[in-house]
Amino acid sequence: MGERTSDRTARERPLGVYTEGEHCKKCYSCVRICPTKAIVVHSGEANIIPEKCISCGYCVGGCSQGAKKIRSSVAEVVALLETGHPCSVLLAPSFPAAFPGIDAPRLAGALAACGFAGVYEVAYGADLVSDEYSRLYRRLVASGDQRFVISSPCPAVVSYVEKICPELVPYLAPIKSPMEAMATVVRARAVGADAHAAPPAVVFVGPCVAKKDEAVRSSLVDEVLTFQELRELFEARGIDPERQEARPFDPPRPRDGEIYPVTGGLLKSAAIDADLLESPVAVVEGSTRVTELLQSLNESVRAGRYVETRLFDLLFCEGCIAGPAITGELDLQGRKKLIVDYMKDRPPARDIREWAPVSREHRGLDFSKAFHAEPSLEVPVPEEDIRRILAVTGKVRPEHELNCRACGYGSCREKAVAVYRGIAEVEMCLPYLITKLETAISDLKENQSRLIHAEKLASMGQMAAGIAHELNNPLGVILMYANILKEDLAGRSDSERQLDDVERIVRESERSRSIVRGILNFAREEKVDREPTDINALLSESIEAARAFDTAGQIRVELDLDDALGLCRVDRRQMRQVFDNIIKNAIEAMPGGGSLAVESRRDVGQFTVAISDTGPGIPEENLSKLFSPFFTTKPVGKGTGLGLVVCYGIVKMHGGSIKAENRPGGGARFEITVQEPQEAV
Ligand code: ADP
Repeated sequence: MGERTSDRTARERPLGVYTEGEHCKKCYSCVRICPTKAIVVHSGEANIIPEKCISCGYCVGGCSQGAKKIRSSVAEVVALLETGHPCSVLLAPSFPAAFPGIDAPRLAGALAACGFAGVYEVAYGADLVSDEYSRLYRRLVASGDQRFVISSPCPAVVSYVEKICPELVPYLAPIKSPMEAMATVVRARAVGADAHAAPPAVVFVGPCVAKKDEAVRSSLVDEVLTFQELRELFEARGIDPERQEARPFDPPRPRDGEIYPVTGGLLKSAAIDADLLESPVAVVEGSTRVTELLQSLNESVRAGRYVETRLFDLLFCEGCIAGPAITGELDLQGRKKLIVDYMKDRPPARDIREWAPVSREHRGLDFSKAFHAEPSLEVPVPEEDIRRILAVTGKVRPEHELNCRACGYGSCREKAVAVYRGIAEVEMCLPYLITKLETAISDLKENQSRLIHAEKLASMGQMAAGIAHELNNPLGVILMYANILKEDLAGRSDSERQLDDVERIVRESERSRSIVRGILNFAREEKVDREPTDINALLSESIEAARAFDTAGQIRVELDLDDALGLCRVDRRQMRQVFDNIIKNAIEAMPGGGSLAVESRRDVGQFTVAISDTGPGIPEENLSKLFSPFFTTKPVGKGTGLGLVVCYGIVKMHGGSIKAENRPGGGARFEITVQEPQEAV
């Protein structure tokens, strides 16, 4: 199997999420849920586009089939621990919500038992970051600068800005995330203790998939585990955290950074007032609201519009306790309570007098951070291409665009753009597929009834051909001797009565022979011998020959022949037989006179001939029987009921169709459409 683009690139720069293709069931839930539409659907399988993916992880929760997975780093962490090189672990402040029944000191003990030399709380890093925000915000307000700032602790927000709204990159707060700040502290402490010591390896454990990407980019953290992966690590190391010996976290202790994972945590910790009415600060959470806001800020920046808010505190999830990697029974409120309780229960290091001297030694560290725009290479899609793609699924007028979102895209146009860019497939349109299915079912039904009809004709034909063949020879003998008898009696004056009788025998024998011929004609398994044929000329010849049936001379002929018809590849003799039969029937349907209209028309790859009359038409109940053998309404001696069956067989052998209908103004109309083979003249 060929290597998929997303897999290849994911190896070059591993993403927090990946696809297990065999589980993908073409439901497009991931397309629907993905805030950046970073999904390419190819042959029905949905893969991730690394250049657009922000590793928010929403597709993981949205995929009921488990085809989207969080990339596990458990094996890498086990390998790291087994090298014997000192390794520190940084625990995100949301941990009380993820391990509800486990005391923090036992959890710290379990981490130490895993082999981590240092066990730290990221909340301390959060405090340092808060101080940076506090300074940045106050500087911004004091300067009267009209710029605004977007908070940068949430890696999904940062990625969204860098990849989707690159023009907003200069507005991201140039400050490290709490994870990066804490990693900086831990590395600096190690170096401080022993100038020659290699810095420890650092593992972060948290609630966030996007942190895996952030770690790859910042290179301050070696591996990132989700809380679920930490449980797997405990299992892999044979550790039960509930039974572990308690131990405190390693210092430095946080001030109030534990509140970070809760809505507005950054602002509270940074003592920035987010009063609803007065403060120029906005707290926005959740992927939909955040992406809407960033798009609108992007527009404002492009248009040079003034933005009133000075600081946007944005989180892609509802706090860091509601993301796709957070599992467990508790609801959001329950998790929030655990965070608040943990903060209240802790011996307070909030007193600035206690915290300040500890943090002072870290003040000199560099907590600044630069961001990099990753502008999209996507070019605008020409309008005519959008229309062309929409037309493929039958959307030629605006009202055809249902915007049902079954494909995962917000609108039919959005999906057409994705098709143009090669990341979506036309077949993803559900209403289009349903219509296609309905047409296929009705075609199938029609073909089935045609097949039944054809089978009926075939078996009747076989039987009739057998009988006709057997009758043909004795009939010939009867006819020959009846004619000899007729000639013998012709000159004799005393045999007038016998001559009448013999003539009747001759007449009836001839009629029988024409019936037998008709049956043989119908049953003959003829091949179509196509040759370039002037259909218009063939029609004219047929009309001329049929004038013999217009005994009263009352039939008017109206011709409407398409000059563009040219030469068509048909079996000339057979096609003539079709025209002869239908024209003869039409003339016979107008014994008192009337008009016979003959039209021909050329279409792409086929031609159509229509023959109409102004006779009585065909009673509704007879329309379905016309092409059945021996159906005739003509008096005995006049009709055999085989003419139209023969026509049907010939037209079908040409791969065409024949239909009979009544004209609205009265009379019957027969229409024959014949496809021409590819190697047309
Ligand atoms: P036949 O002419 O020997 O009856 P066909 O198969 O040619 O056999 O025609 C079957 C029947 O279809 C006719 O008997 C007649 O009832 C009906 N029919 C055919 N053409 C016409 C027509 N132009 N107008 C009315 N009825 C028609």
